[in-house]
Amino acid sequence: MVHVLEVAFGMSESMVDAGANTETSDTGPPRVDTVVVGAGFAGMYMIHRMIQQGRSVRCFEGGTDVGGTWYWNRYPGARCDVESMEYSYDFDEQLQQEWEWTEKYATQPEILAYAQHVADRFDLRNHITFGTRVESAVLDESAGRWIVTTDDGGTVSAQFLVMATGCLSSANLPDIEGRDAFTGELVHTGRWPHHEVQFEGKRVGVVGTGSSGIQAIPVIARTAEHLTVFQRTAQFTIPARNGPLDPVEQQRVKTEYAAFRERNRQMFAAFGSKYLRPATDALDTDPDEFHREMEFLWERGGAMFLSGFRDFMRSPEANHMAADFVRGKIAEMVDDPATAALLTPDGLIGCKRLVIDTDYYVTYNRPNVSLVDVSEQGTPITRITPTGIQAGDQHHDLDVLVFATGFDAMTGSLLRVDIRGRGGKRLADEWQAGPTTYLGLGVHGFPNLFTVAGPGSPSVLANMIIATEQHVDWISDCMAYMRDQGLDLIEADAESVASWVEHVNAVADRTIFPSCNSWYVGANIPGKPRVFMPLPGFPAYVETCNNVAANNYEGFVFETVTA
Ligand code: FAD
Ligand code: NAP
Repeated sequence: MVHVLEVAFGMSESMVDAGANTETSDTGPPRVDTVVVGAGFAGMYMIHRMIQQGRSVRCFEGGTDVGGTWYWNRYPGARCDVESMEYSYDFDEQLQQEWEWTEKYATQPEILAYAQHVADRFDLRNHITFGTRVESAVLDESAGRWIVTTDDGGTVSAQFLVMATGCLSSANLPDIEGRDAFTGELVHTGRWPHHEVQFEGKRVGVVGTGSSGIQAIPVIARTAEHLTVFQRTAQFTIPARNGPLDPVEQQRVKTEYAAFRERNRQMFAAFGSKYLRPATDALDTDPDEFHREMEFLWERGGAMFLSGFRDFMRSPEANHMAADFVRGKIAEMVDDPATAALLTPDGLIGCKRLVIDTDYYVTYNRPNVSLVDVSEQGTPITRITPTGIQAGDQHHDLDVLVFATGFDAMTGSLLRVDIRGRGGKRLADEWQAGPTTYLGLGVHGFPNLFTVAGPGSPSVLANMIIATEQHVDWISDCMAYMRDQGLDLIEADAESVASWVEHVNAVADRTIFPSCNSWYVGANIPGKPRVFMPLPGFPAYVETCNNVAANNYEGFVFETVTA
């Protein structure tokens, strides 16, 4: 019996004995209770909860190790912009006591090491098939099971399918003419190679100035012979003010970690409670007082910058005051006025994800760095040649080309899997006009499919480890409820989905978020429907999820399968 699984998943008998707790079948594909797709922080915790419930679970991960985002994004300068003491699991007190962070904002290698530590500590690896992508998941309606097929031709049958595929895991490599003919090294920040990319003595081009580009550019500039940055749209960025993590501060948090976490869970984005101060509206504040406070926020740095005044994210007029302040800072920091002007964004601050940087603007004062405006008003990239980038009538000779061009966010990785639910309907077709979910967790027509950090949930607008933990807990508790009640299938009701979509839009429309061309609305991917995908406001969302569960999962429909 074990043999079937060994063949299908490369598992050894000892792995099965070690608690993989796998069911098998003589006739059909191997059977497990739960298939989890993705072994980032969401998928890893999902596996842990399944083990705790004594369920058989198989996780498939395209990468060769755990960590998700932190496995793939190995570019120079990659680090978190939620503080280390907060960007970590809180489900296990011992784990959070024993792990020592070294910097205020953890680097990618440190976060990856943390993920690997968690995988080992909770014995997760036996349940993960690495280097294997899920290609399709088809509902067998009569059996009430998902038939999951992987890129090595294996199949497995599962009662539950949990998509922990990540919101920012489907890299967007623009289809620019000539791209594949480039003879130098071409890399994407979100698919960074495992070998060291050499910049020393090289002419390097970076395309893209979002969070990834803005983190990578100052680090690459330190060693490259020359760095050319190709900017289509200028972004607002706030200094991180990173530094070593004070061991006294770390210890202080650890003495009351549970309470610290609870305070953060009450925050709009599930982090930053230690920076909470009484806030007023910018529009009601005396100009001198406003300026003093803005200077304080700038010196403090970090992602809580816009929490300084209550109306920044609600009122465009107030938001412009914050934006003007940062525009003034750019002019102060960048020596060349023409470069400063190019780096200065128009419009609102924070309606695209606010970027947090270390030494970004001053990098443009270096003699080996130049900025090229590739917007429609400047010299758009027309093609990539074997030796560089052609923009307007100028050719930029390059040895290394870095694409920091982001992701097909929120839906990209989900829809790359051919998911077919009731009546053979494809999720990709159902979501052609934009994703529709109930709570960002369930999809009508796709019973027993759960999306972790799915569209319609706070996800990318929150500290994502905390947001995905909350989802995994909700899903696991729901599965336990179903087992207790003898229920086999759960499905989001069509009306609940429709009213949830309306709710998400109504909440988002009270903010400035939907008003600009961000990846939150899919604007970065040609042809993607314009829909605001995440839900602002973590605490209110959690309360709704808890109420839904307490009311016997209202808005969902349950079924029992009669074989
Ligand atoms: P991921 O970490 O994306 O993991 C999903 C996994 O699923 C991937 O490993 C992928 O290979 C796998 N997968 C997808 N499809 C398939 C398939 N079909 N078959 C098999 N495997 C599949 N969030 C914050 O809160 N704070 C931050 O500071 C922050 N910084 C970030 C920095 C970068 C560079 C990026 C890209 C994102 C950042 N994020 C941050 C968001 C980050 O994605 C989340 O914090 C978190 O790591 C997401 O975990 P996850 O498990 O949900 O998804
Ligand atoms: P991004 O924010 O989508 O930025 C992509 C950049 O590439 C933009 O400047 C975009 O310009 C540009 N671009 C895309 N296609 C282009 C083309 N064809 N030609 C020229 N320029 C092009 O992607 P990202 O920087 O990878 O960040 C994505 C998200 O990941 C972040 O918002 C954040 O949530 C997360 N992240 C976080 C951190 C962190 O600090 N912790 C670091 C990295 C990533 P336009 O603006 O004109 O489209």
